[in-house]
Amino acid sequence: MQQNLIIKENIPLRGLNTFHIDATARYFIEVNNYEQLTELIESGFVDKNPVLLLGGGSNLLFTNNFKGIVVQIRNKGIEIFENAGNTVWVKAAAGENWHEFVTYCVEKGFGGIENLSLIPGNVGSCPIQNIGAYGVEVKDSFYSLEAVDLKTGELKIFYHSDCNFGYRESIFKSELKGKFAIWSVTFQLNLNPVVHVEYGAIKQELEAKGIENPSIKDVSEAVCSIRRSKLPDPEILGNAGSFFKNPTVDAKVAEKLRDSFPKLVSYPLPDGNEKLAAGWLIDQCGWKGFREGDAGVHQNQALVLVNHGNATGSQILTLAHRVQNSVYERFGVKLEMEVNVI
Ligand SMILES: Cc1cc2nc3c(=O)[nH]c(=O)nc-3n(C[C@H](O)[C@H](O)[C@H](O)COP(=O)(O)OP(=O)(O)OC[C@H]3O[C@@H](n4cnc5c(N)ncnc54)[C@H](O)[C@@H]3O)c2cc1C
Repeated sequence: MQQNLIIKENIPLRGLNTFHIDATARYFIEVNNYEQLTELIESGFVDKNPVLLLGGGSNLLFTNNFKGIVVQIRNKGIEIFENAGNTVWVKAAAGENWHEFVTYCVEKGFGGIENLSLIPGNVGSCPIQNIGAYGVEVKDSFYSLEAVDLKTGELKIFYHSDCNFGYRESIFKSELKGKFAIWSVTFQLNLNPVVHVEYGAIKQELEAKGIENPSIKDVSEAVCSIRRSKLPDPEILGNAGSFFKNPTVDAKVAEKLRDSFPKLVSYPLPDGNEKLAAGWLIDQCGWKGFREGDAGVHQNQALVLVNHGNATGSQILTLAHRVQNSVYERFGVKLEMEVNVI
């Protein structure tokens, strides 16, 4: 092992995941530069041990101690590397905090990601599940990313069409899961942006402030204020945001469900299918505010599972399975987990 690599042993992870689950990593390393990562790969350590790449830990549920090596990606840097007309390309290192990066872009007047303000986590993780909120997804501004092949150490570029983006999905959450460390992401942003304020809550927030022609900064502030009022702060109550995805069903299935449940909350999709509001389905099964020990369902957001203090990952997972089963029994709809269960 080279001196550049400091591999720690038996490191507590409670402070490194927003669910605040007590778990340990058998081995742990912080990677700040490319040389460290390639050195780690060349050392053979990542070949011999299971590897978990870690960003901000806001989309993970540890159900056990991790027996391999946790590699926390902490490289930093933001570069504006080309500017043509109204378009600006901004490249950010994977270890940059996502919200700080969004704020940086908003302050510079670079539009496109302002609706994604205040989503926890790091830049390197944002393409993995194609983060989305308030009518916008990261794929809408994504240009390319650089990722390090964990077998060879080579840096590879993935363009938009390589990433198979979908709703909370990408190739890095499926075929290439755990095979590449995302190293930087380049966004294509706009100096003369069209703001997306169609989402009801944003409209209301702006109207309440008397803003008629919102700037991207106004939109970002409105989003922050809505999120602060609606979502539990992980610093106070452990959680990983939405635990389940909103399920997509065939329009005929949705129609049939509406016959039995006229208040069904659903959104039409361009392909003719419908997306059902998972939170509504869970709420109808009576889970909102449920608590068993320290594992619970948030009292205002049925889609968010919470750790009231000392829940284990297994207890949260058991609760998640109970929620899935009850939704399936009542509606015949399968809920898929959005959070990465480790
Ligand atoms: C309160 C709250 C609100 C949230 N709201 C939203 C929301 O509105 N929309 C939304 O889409 N998500 C939301 N999330 C989920 C979460 O913020 C995002 O998924 C975020 O992108 C996760 O980033 P992270 O750095 O914390 O990832 P982590 O949890 O550290 O990792 C997530 C996954 O990515 C992998 N990974 C991490 N870094 C890398 C890397 N550099 N290369 C390759 N793989 C890597 C990990 O191994 C893991 O599989 C919310 C979470 C919380 C706690």
